[in-house]
Amino acid sequence: MIQTQTPDCDALIVGAGMIGSACALALARQGLNVSVIDRDHLNQNAKAEPRRVSAINLASENILKRLEVWDEILASLPQTFERIEVQDEGSSGTISFDAADLGLTHLGHIISNEAMTRALHHSLDEKQRVFLRFGQAPTAIASSDSSVTVTLKTGEMISARILIGADGANSRVRELAGITHQESSYDHMAIVATVKPELPHACCARQRFLERGPLAFLPLANNECSIVWSADTEKAEQLLALEDEAFALELAEAFEHRLGSIQKVSPRAKFPLVRRHAVNYIGERIALIGDAAHTVHPLAGLGANQGFADAATLFEVISNASLQNRDLASRSVLRRYERWRRGENALVLRVMDGFHGLFGTDNPAVSRLRGLGLNLTDNAPLIKETLVRYAVGLEGDLPRLAHMP
Ligand SMILES: Cc1cc2nc3c(=O)[nH]c(=O)nc-3n(C[C@H](O)[C@H](O)[C@H](O)COP(=O)(O)OP(=O)(O)OC[C@H]3O[C@@H](n4cnc5c(N)ncnc54)[C@H](O)[C@@H]3O)c2cc1C
Repeated sequence: MIQTQTPDCDALIVGAGMIGSACALALARQGLNVSVIDRDHLNQNAKAEPRRVSAINLASENILKRLEVWDEILASLPQTFERIEVQDEGSSGTISFDAADLGLTHLGHIISNEAMTRALHHSLDEKQRVFLRFGQAPTAIASSDSSVTVTLKTGEMISARILIGADGANSRVRELAGITHQESSYDHMAIVATVKPELPHACCARQRFLERGPLAFLPLANNECSIVWSADTEKAEQLLALEDEAFALELAEAFEHRLGSIQKVSPRAKFPLVRRHAVNYIGERIALIGDAAHTVHPLAGLGANQGFADAATLFEVISNASLQNRDLASRSVLRRYERWRRGENALVLRVMDGFHGLFGTDNPAVSRLRGLGLNLTDNAPLIKETLVRYAVGLEGDLPRLAHMP
């Protein structure tokens, strides 16, 4: 234990990705002094292909609007989606959701991760209470009654009232704080690419469950689509080894030519898919958010949305404590955050496990039941509405920043 009387800042955030940056901005706007460090350098992958994008739901949109970065994000031309279609190859099952059925103009946006991070960094740069540094990583953490001190690779030390670990799936903060996590492979690899289909995507996010894993076509501007094709490792390696033309043919075939032929394919990237969940989200004066706390199969496009909700929730409990002149990182404050978010995220992980198991089998009886289930749900407006309201972030125990205006 070390004793530090006057911490260098109120909050130190490790990881300046989308989630850490959103949390930093929310805290700084509340008047707290925030330091953010990241091991990498600003937007070093800005021009990387394929573009990494996320389906951002209405709850995350509300958070980004309240942080006043939405206008800059809109300038990057994100694509709205007004409809979601899910189809199962192994049965005749289909289900679709329309924004209009909920009285909405859209169900979400497909946005480049880089555009979101850039907008958040621009806004952080303008804040006098924020110290943003790149090329820095922690090597040790020590907590006391009143502060937490992080030693950087350079030997420099930074103390803060709270340390927030937003440093992604292989979180060093999680490791240094001795927070254990459960980890298991989905035995799937996701292949991501930007493609240009022959037919208009019509602002629809499509997902087809194939025998060897789900394939999503997410609409982008200029009638391009970002595809996420998850498959067992053997199949994924085969797909990666194909020449562009052969890959385009196989992709169009796998998608039953629903968007016609595939006319252009960017370089492909692969992501091994691992399920992780931190056993605790908090330590002494420490909290984990985003992928540092949980990673989930991308089949429902929820990982970043869960992370934005973590950031907004942690901000809410910290700022409530701060406004009441209470210790912002006391055990009871951090426990409130953990209780609020761990349960919600555990539910998402369990539902995704269920989908993964249900759609990952070619057992004919299960396949028939699956098709029946999808078709029945498609014809049951109440169940359908409840499902989509959760998916787009209109329901659930959401933090204030995520509420609809
Ligand atoms: C194929 C695929 C598709 C996906 N699609 C969607 C989707 O459609 N919708 C959705 O909501 N989610 C989606 N996700 C999930 C989403 O991408 C993640 O949940 C999100 O990017 C997590 O953000 P983060 O800021 O928590 O972590 P990261 O983006 O990993 O950021 C972590 C930051 O910490 C930094 N860092 C790491 N280690 C250190 C260290 N030791 N010291 C200092 N800094 C460090 C890194 O440089 C990085 O800047 C998808 C994921 C995959 C794999």
